Amino acid sequence: MKLLEDKIRKDGTVLPGNVLKVDNFLNHQVDTQLMDEVGKEFARLFKEDGVTKVVTVESSGIAPAMTAAIHLGVPMIFARKHKSLTLTDNLYTANVYSYTKQVSNNISVDKRFLSSDDKILIIDDFLANGQAVDGLLEIAKAANVEVAGIGIVIEKSFQKGRETIEQTGIKLESLARIASLDDQKVTFVGE
Ligand code: 5GP
Repeated sequence: MKLLEDKIRKDGTVLPGNVLKVDNFLNHQVDTQLMDEVGKEFARLFKEDGVTKVVTVESSGIAPAMTAAIHLGVPMIFARKHKSLTLTDNLYTANVYSYTKQVSNNISVDKRFLSSDDKILIIDDFLANGQAVDGLLEIAKAANVEVAGIGIVIEKSFQKGRETIEQTGIKLESLARIASLDDQKVTFVGE
């Protein structure tokens, strides 16, 4: 998605550890016009896939998941993060290691919001090693819901997330694919 790539080039900064900082349009301040276009693009890519709900993880996934859900005309659920969980009877849970924060969080979705006739679209802001998506897939499996696809705003294609998802056979669409962040420079796949 050209608009997104241009924005990453203009406003993204590369931090040590192969982390791309985009807190001026995605992760802290949100460019609402751009996020609307992102949502439109996800809706275009997944409109034939029978999506009944969009699912993400708080907090950075919420903005793109929200606009995708609006354009698909379905509800959006964000899995909540907890340091620890005690009462889990009414929750679907998974453990997720955070790439950027280097801590593990439990994520959970209330059982009331997913049922076996749902078909979900998983959306996240970044795909790195695939742990966040994996956690959501675990929740989908526990809830016995079908996964229509996975939509990623920014994929770091040099990390192993894409490969892991491709092995599941689930449809994966990333709006920007980064081949390298070497020398503090963003290079997109195909450049
Ligand atoms: P994964 O679980 O695929 O390893 O990492 C994805 C999660 O880590 C995303 O939800 C995102 O919050 C965070 N993340 C991974 N890489 C980056 C990055 O380069 N920049 C930012 N801002 N977040 C990242």
